[in-house]
Amino acid sequence: MVMAEATEPLARILVVEDESDTAEVICDLLQNAGYEATAVESGEEALQYIGQNYDLVLLDIKLPDMNGLEVLRRARSESYDQPMIVLSGYGTGSDRVAALEDGADDYLSKPFSPEELVARIRAIRRRVEWSPRPSTRLVVRELELDMTRRIAFVRGQRVNLTPTEYAILAHLMRNAGNVVTHKELSRSVWGENCGSDYRVLRVNISRLRQKIEEKDREPTYIVTVPNVGYYIPFKR
Ligand code: CA
Repeated sequence: MVMAEATEPLARILVVEDESDTAEVICDLLQNAGYEATAVESGEEALQYIGQNYDLVLLDIKLPDMNGLEVLRRARSESYDQPMIVLSGYGTGSDRVAALEDGADDYLSKPFSPEELVARIRAIRRRVEWSPRPSTRLVVRELELDMTRRIAFVRGQRVNLTPTEYAILAHLMRNAGNVVTHKELSRSVWGENCGSDYRVLRVNISRLRQKIEEKDREPTYIVTVPNVGYYIPFKR
């Protein structure tokens, strides 16, 4: 007799989508790919559910009670730092940039193929789970990264980072003392097809500075090298 094996889901995913047909299709395909999926229909519900241990959020832009980007901004301002992928029906470039600027980790225009969605989720989960060996702790001055638990500490205080912010900071810290170019940094976070528009990188850098610098206008950790990139000096 073959017993169905109860396996742990790969991750718990919150699907925020008001169109019930679309939500059902997405939940089915996530479940088939080994994830646990829960669907909610409104921005208010999303904000209530986001805090409940979801590993990743798929967020439709057009919701009945508020714009998905509003949900994104409110979630980030309340320090919910799990990865979020924005799903949009409009597919305009400005939407994409706005979503990434507001703290989304990726953006997908409808219609998308199931393979595409699952590939994006896997890519983000790799970014979240990736940790270098053998060193699991990176320390530069009063900045500390626990790479096993993916937690950052500044002056002894824990700071919440989104996966994108974490990836940027980790790359800069691994290269502390050296200038990292915009291109290299973008490639390390978003991969080979990152393009050469660095607006989203800049916005993430600015958010990181607000979180880790004493004065974000006078950064001593993430220092700009004009027209080249950034570096973290060993000494302030
Ligand atoms: Ca919708």
